[in-house]
Amino acid sequence: MASSGESPRSVMHGDGIVVLSTHKASAKEQARNAERLKSLLSEPHNKQCFECEGDVEFRTAWASVSIGVFICAGCSGLHRSLGTHISRVKSCAADDWNDDWVDNMESWGNKRASLFWEWRPPARRPTPADGRNQSRRMREFVAAKYMRRAFSAAGEAHEWRVADPLPLENGWARYADEFGRHYFHHTPSDETTWELPDAARPPPCLPVLVRTGARGWLEKKSGGHEERGKMKLLQKWDRRYFVLPAGGAELSYYKTEDDAARGEHPAGSLRCDGAEVFLKEVRDDGVHRFTIKTRERELKLRSSKREFETWASALEPIAAEVDDAPRAG
Ligand SMILES: [Zn+2]
Repeated sequence: MASSGESPRSVMHGDGIVVLSTHKASAKEQARNAERLKSLLSEPHNKQCFECEGDVEFRTAWASVSIGVFICAGCSGLHRSLGTHISRVKSCAADDWNDDWVDNMESWGNKRASLFWEWRPPARRPTPADGRNQSRRMREFVAAKYMRRAFSAAGEAHEWRVADPLPLENGWARYADEFGRHYFHHTPSDETTWELPDAARPPPCLPVLVRTGARGWLEKKSGGHEERGKMKLLQKWDRRYFVLPAGGAELSYYKTEDDAARGEHPAGSLRCDGAEVFLKEVRDDGVHRFTIKTRERELKLRSSKREFETWASALEPIAAEVDDAPRAG
């Protein structure tokens, strides 16, 4: 294990930069490190994916070498999408591991990393019960965790790990003994304990969902206001530029992006508080048809999968319901 009091030489977080050792492991070093990884993966916390809590084992495990956590194959994709300045992802079995990388995994691991990255515990974590919404919600969760740092302790990860003392909540502080083991001391009562007391942590973080807003082109179905017979003939899809402001709930659309940028009066708009957002159809060519439905009106839209997911995420904190499962009818 890396000695306490200094950061592993392989990894530095700070100013958003992660520098990983590029040292190429010899065959002997690789073999040794495969054994070290297997040993780390036998620890209970590391056997559960750091993000989705699914089962992880050496053969199929991935790791974020920069953050120091073990994750499943599915969540390795989420980490990759964060960018290599946040997470460097390696396969435990298929990549060649050098000593520096494994040192960092040892000095963090899922248990300690959760105390930094989930210091303020998330009140809700996406689970399989979210059904088809789970993958999108996992992506939102991971973005909230690492990009907005919605749950993390203060400061940078490498500083947090070695800070001594580290002030905590309600008069508690964390100290390190001469072997680098952490203990907790409560100044008002002079109580000392090895286990992190609940009172030393902040309450769970409720607002995971932030109104980030969104903007971009979508196709909007128009026509069909006339009598029923004519309806089908008059229907068409118009490209419109949609804007949902950050922090807002009013979705507006414009004929051009310039109109939106200049703050012109929109061609139409819809208050999305309490709306139902649901997928209508996913075509074989990947086109997603979806509906935003409020008491006043319905907007029928279509887009690529990626655009749909962007808008579903942006609308989730505002709408009463966002559903990724195609709805019949
Ligand atoms: Zn996972």
